[in-house]
Amino acid sequence: MMLGFEIILVVGVITAIGYPLFRSSDGETAIEEGDEYHKLLYRKDAAYLSLKELEFDYSSDKIDSEDYAKLKSNLEKEAVSILKQIDGLKRKAAPQPEQSAPRAKQGRFCTACGKQLNQHDKFCGSCGQKLS
Ligand SMILES: [Zn+2]
Repeated sequence: MMLGFEIILVVGVITAIGYPLFRSSDGETAIEEGDEYHKLLYRKDAAYLSLKELEFDYSSDKIDSEDYAKLKSNLEKEAVSILKQIDGLKRKAAPQPEQSAPRAKQGRFCTACGKQLNQHDKFCGSCGQKLS
């Protein structure tokens, strides 16, 4: 009977997934937003892998359907919560609709006549407007 071993294995995997969280709370490593994001991606992969292993164990009759359903629902909840956290980080990191960057690339324009200027012009070449 492999059931006990399988449960230990799955619990071990879940613990491994959760480990970075516990480690991050000891204050030794400052968590950057980027680190958090990659950590979540890693945990998402780990959760999917655990789900796959669980499906495999179930399909090869290593665990009964009751345990399978319970473990699967736990792992799915874990995966969903990770995905939500990833979404949250993505939204936070997403660039705001910003117009200054493209405008800066297009160059300067005379405030008087609107003619395009070279980057270092002191006067407008068209109307002679003094430029700041
Ligand atoms: Zn001008």
